[in-house]
Formats: sequence, structure tokens, C-alpha cells
Amino acid sequence: MQITEIYKSLQGESTHAGLPCVFVRLTGCNLRCSWCDSEYTFQGGRKMTSEEVWDEVKRLSPNGGLVEITGGEPMLQERELVPLMQRLLETGYRLLLETSGERPLEHVPGEVIKIVDVKCPNSGEANTFHTENLETLNPHDEVKFVLSGRTDYEFARDFTLRHRLAERVNAVLFSPAFRKDATGTRDSSHCLLDPQELAEWMLADDVPARLGLQLHKYIWDPAVKGV
Ligand code: SF4
Repeated sequence: MQITEIYKSLQGESTHAGLPCVFVRLTGCNLRCSWCDSEYTFQGGRKMTSEEVWDEVKRLSPNGGLVEITGGEPMLQERELVPLMQRLLETGYRLLLETSGERPLEHVPGEVIKIVDVKCPNSGEANTFHTENLETLNPHDEVKFVLSGRTDYEFARDFTLRHRLAERVNAVLFSPAFRKDATGTRDSSHCLLDPQELAEWMLADDVPARLGLQLHKYIWDPAVKGV
């Protein structure tokens, strides 16, 4: 497998936010979201066997706990990733998988909690979500929308209602996009959409979603990687 980094930090943007978590970040992505803060994953990394990845997870978190598989787009390495996920589950880890849902998700083990990041228009990657993946969603999964303006918000709101997401998954997350060159202060001035404005829209529409902030960007300098 091609791996950019494996590290331990706090989970930052889901209903698991704030929990200690080992991140396994796979190299490579087939999308190019305008606000992407993970461009360093597009190339490079190092080749590791599933065994080496498993060993590193075990070293960082020997007593089980939460592991997030992320990227890049991890499902581009599905052939090796699925057996790795099965092994981690068998070892007792709870697994999160962050994916855009552009690749088929039918072979992801049912115990894995999928966090599916459906791309909105301002990302430049609208319509990349593979609609058939809605059928793979389990009640413990989460669907996330990263928003940078009113157009994105209306897309997310309408998608949520049209596909009755709140009835299908554990959480629907609306998260303001963060400026990718943000550095220094750790506050919401770096958001491309003011969280207060988003909160007011959500309340006005009574949308069945939860506002999410990227916790790690308020704990560490937003420019810091590997946290
Ligand atoms: S899918 Fe994720 S890693 Fe890929 S370009 Fe979009 S934000 Fe970046």
C-alpha cells in the first residue's frame, strides 16, 4: 500500500471528534477539491505492506481504540485496504473510513463506520458522489458536506432531504470549509463560510443535520500537518 503518514491525534470532525485516534493516511486522490488541505497526499508516501501498517497501528495504540482510514482517497487502494480493515476489526479496533463516495463502497466491511464526504458545487468536484453508495450506508455511518457558501448549503440541505439521510445514518454533518493556506490564529476567521451564518441558515430551515467544526484546527495551528 502507498501510505503518506500514520500518526496518533484527536479525531477532529465527526461524532467521534475529541477521541484519541490513530490516523492511517493513504496516498493518492482522484479529485481536486478547491479547498483541499491534504494536497501533500496526492503524491509520494512510502510503500508499506498491510502487515507493516498493522504493526504501526498496534505500536501507537496497543490496547485497541479508534482508527481512521483516510487520505487522499483510501478506496483507490481497495484491494489491499479491505483485508487490512478486516484484520484491524478482528484485532478489536473501531474503524472509521473517510471517503468521498466516488468509488464503490459495497465491499467495505459492515462494521466499518463510513464518513462519506459528499462534494458540493464550490469544491469543483460536484456530482462525483456515486449515488448507488446510498444503498451501502448503515445506521452507524455519517454523511458530511463541506460548505463554502450559500450554494453549497442549499445543495447539502436539498440532498439531505431528498435522500432522507437523517433516517439512514447516525449523523449528517454540515461543516464550513477552512481556508487551505490558514495559519497562525486558531479561530473561525479562517472559515470560508462563517459558522454563525451557517448556524442561522440551519435553524431557519430546521434542517436535520449537525454543524461540525474541524476541532483540530482550533487546537493546533491550522497549518500543522500530522495532527
Ligand atoms: S477528496 Fe479529499 S483529499 Fe481528495 S482533493 Fe478532495 S479534499 Fe483533497
